[in-house]
Amino acid sequence: MNSYPNIFRKLDLGFTELKNRIIMGSMHTGLEEIGDWKRISEFYASRARGQVALIITGGIGPNKEGSVLPGAAMMSNEKDVKNHMISTKAVHEEGSKIVMQILHAGRYAYNDKAVAPSPLKAPISPFIPKELDEEGIEKQISDIVQSAYLAKCAGYDGVEIMGSEGYLINQFLVSHTNRREDNWGGSYENRIRFPVEIVKRIRKKVGTNFLLIYRLSIIDLIPNGSSWDEVVLLAKAIEKAGANIINSGIGWHEARIPTIATSVPKKAFSWVTKKLYGQVSIPIIASNRINSPELAESVLADKCADLVSMARPFLADSEFVKKASENKSNEIVPCIACNQACLDHTFSMKLTSCLVNPRACRETELKYEKVILPKKIAVVGAGPAGISFSITAAQRGHLVSLFEEKDEIGGQLNFAKKIPGKEEFYGLLDYYINEVKRLKIDLITNHKVKHSDLIGFDEVVVATGVLPRKIDIDGYNNFNGVYDYQQIFSNKVSIGNRIAIIGAGGIGFDVAEYLSSSGISPTLDINKWMKKWGVIDPENERGGVLLSGGIKDFECSKEIFLLQRKNEKPGKRLGKTTGWIHRKSLEKKNVKMLSGVNYEKITPEGLLISFGEEKSDLQLLKVDTIIICAGQISELSLIKTICTKSVKYHVIGGAKKANELDAKSAIDEGCRLAAQL
Ligand code: NAP
Ligand code: SF4
Repeated sequence: MNSYPNIFRKLDLGFTELKNRIIMGSMHTGLEEIGDWKRISEFYASRARGQVALIITGGIGPNKEGSVLPGAAMMSNEKDVKNHMISTKAVHEEGSKIVMQILHAGRYAYNDKAVAPSPLKAPISPFIPKELDEEGIEKQISDIVQSAYLAKCAGYDGVEIMGSEGYLINQFLVSHTNRREDNWGGSYENRIRFPVEIVKRIRKKVGTNFLLIYRLSIIDLIPNGSSWDEVVLLAKAIEKAGANIINSGIGWHEARIPTIATSVPKKAFSWVTKKLYGQVSIPIIASNRINSPELAESVLADKCADLVSMARPFLADSEFVKKASENKSNEIVPCIACNQACLDHTFSMKLTSCLVNPRACRETELKYEKVILPKKIAVVGAGPAGISFSITAAQRGHLVSLFEEKDEIGGQLNFAKKIPGKEEFYGLLDYYINEVKRLKIDLITNHKVKHSDLIGFDEVVVATGVLPRKIDIDGYNNFNGVYDYQQIFSNKVSIGNRIAIIGAGGIGFDVAEYLSSSGISPTLDINKWMKKWGVIDPENERGGVLLSGGIKDFECSKEIFLLQRKNEKPGKRLGKTTGWIHRKSLEKKNVKMLSGVNYEKITPEGLLISFGEEKSDLQLLKVDTIIICAGQISELSLIKTICTKSVKYHVIGGAKKANELDAKSAIDEGCRLAAQL
């Protein structure tokens, strides 16, 4: 008996059927742009093999002006049709369905040819779009319709029309971006003509037996976004125009509310989808921050939606649905919603991958093949590098012994899990603990490895990680209250109410978040989270967001200074898509972030700082606690012991390179070495 009865119910759509209720949502991976269609088709086919019912491709442009950036993938000619046929065929051979998302970026196009209903620059783009005239509007509609028709020729089961996230169609819907006074602007009836015409004309062109999904922005999260009545009116009009399914779009890209980051509560927006459920008679899809079969099942059981869309969880594990169907939920590699190897890569023009699964989008290149002759391998250090090596090597059939000096595995992930907003790390650690047991990895904790422990192994992997960097400031040793970040998480030191954090990298930000928080984490309490960010029922406020932007003085009773020497915006080097969230969260708690700082001296009264090369503005920060988050150095003591004793060893993770090391590169290194040995 399967534990997820609602997930594994078929959905009858009349002319076609979905074999379960899970959809792989649209993601821009960058694979289409590389043009290696064998690789693209294997990416999709492996998710189809993993039994997902329906795949939605990354956004494909209908024409040059609508593509997200120059050179982005399009569906506009015969060559495109031939290429796409390779992946539709591969997915069909594995028994799943695939639809192509048509995305016209409008003013979000990173392109000086961008077009929009009105010539208003988006806050996230440097380009002022050209205002579309009547002829231009007709051209955009007809290009989108033609793209849908070509998708049908390429063997797709349907198309998804991207009508949300602030792209062109969304731009027509709200007065914030549509200032027109002709038939395409002004009244709401006029503003919705654009999507309604698109859906009507596509339906006419492709006939009835072709899926037409419309992604509708159910909560814009921008001031003066759509009202709830308008959302419902649009949904009804879209159904009438010929759509088969409505997908939920959450928030515009320019919204200053996090919508998919790890600090967003799980299934945070299902309540909005539920409001729409029953208002139309076609199926509705829920999305955003749903990353386990249990959550998907609860969304369906609570009648929030008919289908659940997950995107990033399919990067983390291509077999998500198959494992759920076999009641092996604890074997699913969990997506921790970090964005570090997926969206952050996309926004840095890099190919997508996944922090917890480096094989994502590299299926044809990075292979974990079963070994014929298993080796005995000792791994020293059970941080992200050591664990990912051990699991991958054991999956391949090697006999792995994993040594850890502490009483638990996970290394620095055990600090990350304690940060409010990063609770997903608990799930990742549970997955690792389960895999270590399931794969019968010989785990030896509370043990400091000696040379004699390593005798008899065919290979030794050193993954001993990092130590906090010590810094030299005048007065350091005379101040009772200087700690490194690891001591803070040990709960063994007493922390005062006036704190200076030295170093504003990822860990400095994490420590500031940790120390400025109190009570339950907003990530675990949706009401608290909504208050923090000013999210509200769109029935009460247009766009579902308070103009005030949420609570300013949020919960912090301590005075905290977060300091860096570099004269640049603090947090500038954090994740592309998440840095602003960390910064804003600290701003809401009045954490003072200072750049261009020189650390002059620690005195009994606190930390004396100055600014810039000229060492101006001498200031005494009257703090009782100073926390050093100044990066790390490699922990090499084991290597020093064994390198003289002819042990053959490999070094990975922080032990190899501490600078700029993060979990993404540590896991990647662990998996890649395990694939080779
Ligand atoms: P980091 O990002 O390198 O930051 C260390 C900070 O310490 C820098 O801001 C540096 O800034 C300062 N620093 C370095 N040497 C110093 C010295 N001698 N004296 C005073 N200040 C010094 O390292 P981290 O914060 O330890 O993070 C480690 C890795 O984990 C990084 O790759 C980071 O991206 C990753 N991580 C990421 C996240 C995330 O949210 N994405 C969270 C945690 C960790 P100045 O030189 O300007 O002062
Ligand atoms: Fe999820 Fe992070 Fe992987 Fe992206 S990189 S799929 S957010 S775990």
